Amino acid sequence: MTSLDGPYHNLSVVEVIEETSDSKSFVFAVPDELVERFSYRSGQFLTFRVEVDGHRIVRCYSLASAPNIDSRLKVTVKRVVDGRASNWMNDEVSSGVTLEVMPPAGHFCLRDRETPIVLFGGGSGITPIISIIKTALETTSRSIFLLYANRNDQSIIFKDELSALLSRYPDRLEIVHRLDDVHGFVDSGLVIQHVGPRADADFYICGPGPFMDVVENGLSTLDVTSEQIFIERFESPDASAEAGPVDTSAGTLITIKLDGSETNVEIGEGETILAAARRAGLEAPFACEEAYCGCCMAKVVEGDVDMLMNDGGIDQRQIDEGWVLTCQGIVKGNVRIEYPD
Ligand SMILES: Cc1cc2nc3c(=O)[nH]c(=O)nc-3n(C[C@H](O)[C@H](O)[C@H](O)COP(=O)(O)OP(=O)(O)OC[C@H]3O[C@@H](n4cnc5c(N)ncnc54)[C@H](O)[C@@H]3O)c2cc1C
Repeated sequence: MTSLDGPYHNLSVVEVIEETSDSKSFVFAVPDELVERFSYRSGQFLTFRVEVDGHRIVRCYSLASAPNIDSRLKVTVKRVVDGRASNWMNDEVSSGVTLEVMPPAGHFCLRDRETPIVLFGGGSGITPIISIIKTALETTSRSIFLLYANRNDQSIIFKDELSALLSRYPDRLEIVHRLDDVHGFVDSGLVIQHVGPRADADFYICGPGPFMDVVENGLSTLDVTSEQIFIERFESPDASAEAGPVDTSAGTLITIKLDGSETNVEIGEGETILAAARRAGLEAPFACEEAYCGCCMAKVVEGDVDMLMNDGGIDQRQIDEGWVLTCQGIVKGNVRIEYPD
């Protein structure tokens, strides 16, 4: 598949690393012609389209590798109970398998500052965080503090890699491991205690929802501005969430082609294409719904669509080819949309 056919490219898995009993890392070879498109910043993620039980699903996985430090791209996938993609990746993907992948995206990245970096990682939330740590250690002189929460000692992903970094940078890196079975859950008091005098830091938070809430609550009591806080949410918005009533009386009808089937969907005034598709019961792909992941991209083959915003989820070349982010797509009259085959 070339970039003109759609946003996905084929990448081969060249190595699978068993990280813990419920997580594996997947290392990819990037062919020469795609090296530029797959260049990335620490903290970004890749979007995968996989087929599980006959259904195509799209999922994002953060890069745990760091550009110019690790020679290959690596993502780490932790099993989610009853989760479709995460278990399929862990069970079925071995070296030699080819996967459909979108180029890197995301804003959970380092910015140019000299202040300390304080990171809060929980479980698989360590993946973008370790990438940021490696790059910050290598390319800046900033001091780095990581609070890393896990259920127990066996579930610590990248334990050895983190301790190797500690040995290499003992004066700049500090890591506190918190284990639920030994120390209990992290609370706001602990967050405040560890931030200590570093209220001027940049803060990076990635982990389970309740963990991130606790960290945010702790930071909210300190003299920390929202510009200092970077958050990566792994949980997609609830696809089954009830959409509010939508007035479709204006009568605009759009045609959506997804997984080979066409469906006519009534779309309300100001409603996005994605929202209308989901309201109609279609399993249209999406993740961030904030115009930066690119998961929900589809091609406009007839009619006109405006995007409310584009936060890097789609590039100009794709826009010129007719692609839109459906989470931001507002139709201007009847249109026909096709999701990538
Ligand atoms: C930017 C970003 C980066 C990410 N990076 C990583 C990463 O580095 N590593 C990582 O492991 N994960 C990461 N994730 C999370 C990942 O994308 C997936 O969300 C995760 O792997 C779960 O997907 P799944 O298909 O296995 O689970 P799903 O099948 O989507 O299920 C998720 C949960 O919903 C429940 N569920 C599923 N179907 C239904 C249903 N019909 N009704 C009710 N409940 C249901 C399941 O029981 C499960 O608990 C990231 C997410 C984002 C948005």
